[in-house]
Amino acid sequence: MKLILLGAPGSGKGTQAAFLCGKLHLPHISTGDIFRDNINRQTALGVRIKNIIDAGDFCPDDLTVEIVKDRLLSPDCKNGYLLDGFPRNIFQAKALDEFDKPDTVINFDVDIKVIHHRLTGRRLCRKCGNSYHIDNIGESKICPSCGGEIYVRADDNPVSVEERLAVYQEQTFPLKEYYEKQGKLLNVDGNRNRELILADILKGLGI
Ligand code: ADP
Ligand code: ZN
Repeated sequence: MKLILLGAPGSGKGTQAAFLCGKLHLPHISTGDIFRDNINRQTALGVRIKNIIDAGDFCPDDLTVEIVKDRLLSPDCKNGYLLDGFPRNIFQAKALDEFDKPDTVINFDVDIKVIHHRLTGRRLCRKCGNSYHIDNIGESKICPSCGGEIYVRADDNPVSVEERLAVYQEQTFPLKEYYEKQGKLLNVDGNRNRELILADILKGLGI
């Protein structure tokens, strides 16, 4: 199964991706994770894109498409994959259509106010990767699950969040119609809790 998760930043794509990949045994391909990994390892790519990502803007299309193309050629993607964060604009969607067509595109509809609240209060664990909200853990610097260090993602500051939401609205939102026209869209209401969203997705996929 070849799946794409579509939605605004903070719409819950990452959470559902983890569930779905575990259940369906699909490799999770997150362009954001690939970029952040390169930034952490200070590779040539990482050095080039750090400021772009921290500001909440998109990495260049040609570079992003090449990275995904290369990743999808890996043997573990032969029987399917779950793309999270790609494509993010019409150019990338058309590029993908030229080398590999997705089966289903799951779109998360979430109110912009909910997203803004989620992102500006998001906290992550450096050790286990879990995601929390200050509503639940306050300003604690210790992960409730593993004791690891809690940090704020560089692009979760209010200015970058505004930019990411604006870029989403302008460039990514039109993909919903693009895939609807192809008859591939599975739309879910992402304002609800994760269990209900997952149930909707599995039902939509006929699982
Ligand atoms: P979020 O969805 O929370 O914004 P991601 O981890 O998906 O987080 O992406 C983080 C950042 O990585 C984006 O704001 C952007 O700068 C970059 N990025 C990720 N995917 C793409 C893509 N397909 N095209 C261009 N830039 C991307
Ligand atoms: Zn942890």
